[in-house]
Amino acid sequence: MTVFKGKGVNKATAVGKIAVLTGQETVVKRERTDCPDSELERLEKAKTEAEIQLKELAKKVREETGSAEAEIFEIHMMMLEDEDYNNAVKEMITSQKVNAEYAVAVTGDNFAQMFADMEDSYMQARSADVKDITNRIIACLTDSTSSQAVLREPVVIIADDLSPAETASLDKGKVLAFVTAKGSVNSHTAILARSMDIPAVIGAGEELLSAVRDGDFVAVDGFTGEVILNPDEKTVKAMAQKLSAEKEKKRLLQSLKGKASVTVDGRKISICANIGSVDNMGEVLLNDAEGIGLFRSEFLYLEKNDFPTEQEQFAVYRRVLESMGGKKVIIRTLDIGADKQCGYFNLKKEENPALGIRGARLCLNRPEIFRVQLRALLRASAYGNMGIMFPMITNVWELEEILRLIKGIKKELEGEGISYSDKTETGIMIETPASALISHRLAPMVDFFSVGTNDLTQYTLACDRQNSDTEPFCDTHHEAVLSLVKMACESAHSHGKWIGICGELASDTSLTEYFLRLGIDELSVPPADVLKVRDAVRRIDLSE
Ligand code: PEP
Ligand code: MG
Repeated sequence: MTVFKGKGVNKATAVGKIAVLTGQETVVKRERTDCPDSELERLEKAKTEAEIQLKELAKKVREETGSAEAEIFEIHMMMLEDEDYNNAVKEMITSQKVNAEYAVAVTGDNFAQMFADMEDSYMQARSADVKDITNRIIACLTDSTSSQAVLREPVVIIADDLSPAETASLDKGKVLAFVTAKGSVNSHTAILARSMDIPAVIGAGEELLSAVRDGDFVAVDGFTGEVILNPDEKTVKAMAQKLSAEKEKKRLLQSLKGKASVTVDGRKISICANIGSVDNMGEVLLNDAEGIGLFRSEFLYLEKNDFPTEQEQFAVYRRVLESMGGKKVIIRTLDIGADKQCGYFNLKKEENPALGIRGARLCLNRPEIFRVQLRALLRASAYGNMGIMFPMITNVWELEEILRLIKGIKKELEGEGISYSDKTETGIMIETPASALISHRLAPMVDFFSVGTNDLTQYTLACDRQNSDTEPFCDTHHEAVLSLVKMACESAHSHGKWIGICGELASDTSLTEYFLRLGIDELSVPPADVLKVRDAVRRIDLSE
């Protein structure tokens, strides 16, 4: 039994077989070979395996979402047979006498660059496909699990780190737990684990990676952050007991379903859920959320290999709205950039991506992408009670520009005879210190604010949320952050607008009373935390 220690980010345990996941950016070494023929043979075998994987993926996606979605894997299958690509790989193996994975990696890079340099935006987007197919062949050559692999059985995913895109494209039904060697508790991977209610341990250390192999047995303790390799019977039993005790706690909370989130002295607050996908809707309904306070719509983009169309997005938004049966659903427009990188957007490499073109900035720079989402949102608004929220606002002019765009699209829809709900609220995330500091100017322009404490903390305390080394300097209860929340709350209320909190701090029950005393109107939390927060609210007496 070997024990590794990281940070537990979701209170649950899991025991199961390991699948070691190789990242998108696999480091491939150049090795000389005296036998190019055997490398060519390895290459053929890897391509056959890649083809089997792609066929399975296409089948699975076709069954789950329809043929348009599966098309991308068919494109990948065609690329697998591309003569130019294959000839270039083979030529490099034979003439330079190098290992197959190196030849594939170099050729992949060259082809991806070639596509990225093309004028046509469709061809540019193919650059990401070349990278995907290249990574898949390399994963098959190195016998590792690619980040886009089909998981054949339930497994504990172990990876160096996981990007939000990699996490989003995993088959959630087959993931027992996540363990990463690197990463921080505030990362989107940690947030996704919480919203999917899957045990996760982040930052378990690099030694873990050299100690584990596919198929090894492991126990993951999301309470303590322990990762126990080849656990004995006693450990497995202890894990199961911990899990059932936690389940019992959650079961007891189920008695709060249908009850109001109201304090002892009668102050009512709305407790909503954060989601990243329609797949989370089961948890939302099970935990009796009073609405969706944050739908991270960018995951719709991250799960895919090409831009989701207006119709595809409309169908997803409509489904969420209809499932909520008239309860408020706040959909955040796409927050791509920073750690949420999406290959086919072909974003420029930035030195400091968290301070770069992300969220609303990207949408303003790429209106052709933004317009598709806004049209889909407005069309879907006719099917429920929707709010649209914009991330990463720092300037008044950004919001003016966005509201102008929305006005134009509404006119366009009217011209086309397409209905939308004119009751749709618009709001912004308060997640930059600037937005809190000018909240008195932003409040008159919108219907609501929602405080994104994850980014507000990152930007206020100058602590990169991806960098675990900054965690000791990142006090989430820091008075600077709480003062900004207070400031935004006062601005909202003095203009008669409502304000919620949708960052992870919303489920920190040691702050619930503080937020209630500030006058916060809504707390939006991972679905599994809704009843825990309702329980905390119902024990508070603000008259004391
Ligand atoms: C936040 O920043 O607090 C937030 C809710 O958004 P995200 O975590 O997706 O950046
Ligand atoms: Mg944010």
